[in-house]
Amino acid sequence: RAKEVGRNSYRYYSPAMNRDAQERLALESALSGAIENHQLSIHYQPKVDILSNRISGMEALLRWRHPTLGDVPPQRFIPLAEDTGLIHSIGYWAMRTACAQNRAWQVSGSARLKVAVNLSVRQLVDDRLIDNISAILEETGLEACYLELEITETAVMAEPDKAVQVLKNLQQLGVSVAIDDFGAGYSSLSYLKQFPIRAVKIDQSFVQALPSSHSDSAITKAIISLAHSMECSVIAEGTETRQQFEFLREHACDSVQGFYFSEPMPADKFGKLLRSEENLRLH
Ligand code: C2E
Ligand code: MG
Ligand code: MG
Ligand code: MG
Repeated sequence: RAKEVGRNSYRYYSPAMNRDAQERLALESALSGAIENHQLSIHYQPKVDILSNRISGMEALLRWRHPTLGDVPPQRFIPLAEDTGLIHSIGYWAMRTACAQNRAWQVSGSARLKVAVNLSVRQLVDDRLIDNISAILEETGLEACYLELEITETAVMAEPDKAVQVLKNLQQLGVSVAIDDFGAGYSSLSYLKQFPIRAVKIDQSFVQALPSSHSDSAITKAIISLAHSMECSVIAEGTETRQQFEFLREHACDSVQGFYFSEPMPADKFGKLLRSEENLRLH
């Protein structure tokens, strides 16, 4: 950064920069107390089978509500949690909460579905990852086959050799893995085929411009056929319109997630959706 600024490097110390740094510090200290102060929660968003329109699973998404800062979006606090190392406690809190919730829904008689939890790059390379996941599954009573981890393409490609090993260990444990934000990063196809992955999530940046953008349509079709050739299922994230949904169905995408069907919602509301008749057919 200092290099970019060049001869005007005095700007580096400007009051504005100072304010940014102070704000970051304040946010960081607030985040470090977020768990014990009960400010975190999980929202759930359905994944919907494209042919039956039935809920086939759900993604767990962290929410942070601070008494004075209000709702802080994950886009803002997840990177901060990664930089500070808080991602470990927050990430395992999210996983434990989502697994316990999924187990509770199953025990109450709702359909048995997979809950997907996002895993950050620092968690992926954490040597205690497998032990911690095993402990969470044991503690919550959730069977491993009902937990899926979403790992971004960028995260697996950060240390691909390590990632291959971790993904194999997860597979052995019975936990499935989906590659998140696929197409947004750079993948080496030779690595990709070594990864034991069950699903690919098409990045929402491609889905948004469907079907009018020729290049995004072409990329989407290519990702679907690539995933199917690796025996992975494909889900399109950020599906908002009927046109997008129909394009995806016509091109054999397996499922969709997005505002077209439902926004992420609090656990009690999602539980009602699972129990309700609507679950049989959302549209
Ligand atoms: P992601 O895993 O790619 O999650 C999808 C994001 O798209 C979510 O944003 C979701 O609310 C949003 N979304 C869903 N449907 C639509 C739609 O139709 N249109 C649009 N425009 N957006 C849609 P959210 O909840 O703000 O989360 C943002 C990112 O924060 C996630 O991206 C994920 O990378 C990260 N994140 C969230 N929860 C966790 C967590 O527990 N652990 C970790 N490590 N990261 C998390
Ligand atoms: Mg995700
Ligand atoms: Mg995603
Ligand atoms: Mg994303």
